Amino acid sequence: MSLLDAIGPELVLATHNKGKVAEFATLLAPLGITVVSAGDLGLPEPEETGRTFAENAILKAAAASRATGKPALADDSGLCVSALNDDPGIYSARWAGPGKDFGAAMERVLSGLRGEGAITPEQREARFVAVLALTLPQEDEAHVFEGVCSGTIAASPRGTNGFGYDPLFIPADADGRTFGEMTGEEKAGGPDPLSHRARAVSIFMEALGLTGEAGANDAPAA
Ligand code: IMP
Repeated sequence: MSLLDAIGPELVLATHNKGKVAEFATLLAPLGITVVSAGDLGLPEPEETGRTFAENAILKAAAASRATGKPALADDSGLCVSALNDDPGIYSARWAGPGKDFGAAMERVLSGLRGEGAITPEQREARFVAVLALTLPQEDEAHVFEGVCSGTIAASPRGTNGFGYDPLFIPADADGRTFGEMTGEEKAGGPDPLSHRARAVSIFMEALGLTGEAGANDAPAA
């Protein structure tokens, strides 16, 4: 049975973030599947106690599948800075605090790099990571799809587009602009997107027999 057939007619998006619901509803529209969100269903938000992006994505999807008896999809993402032992990593959202102050979070990255004496692009290597986890009630193993975008941390934030750490991140294989200086289409569009999230989605779509590149790892469901 194909993965698409195994999902069936309805998929729960394991998120309470309306922005993510809208983004995924659009991306998943070609599947012809009814998409409902954990937020709309009034499901509780599980605590993100995992040590990796995959563990957190799996625990969110698995909690939604357990609660509903339906297939569920969750994502987890963040920025890993090599010289900072891959911080903020899974703590990317948390570094901005309850006020979602990403100016302060970006300054924390920059001051960490100053503390390490990291000046050259090699010393300022970083990557954005996005992991999607799909759990099916009839399976113990989650399906995991990972997208990565490698790059470097700019000397200071540049650009006002995007969100989060976008103004600080210069993707490799581009023209030296930060994500904050690119349009959404430049960041995530086209058949070979730069963005980690678009890459993860493309790999997921390929696993469903649609577009993108092949590849999926199986990992134990939480
Ligand atoms: P979560 O995936 O909802 O746990 O949040 C991940 C956090 O990582 C976001 O709040 C952002 O701070 C950061 N992040 C993830 N992807 C991006 C991106 O594409 N641009 C900027 N920041 C991002």
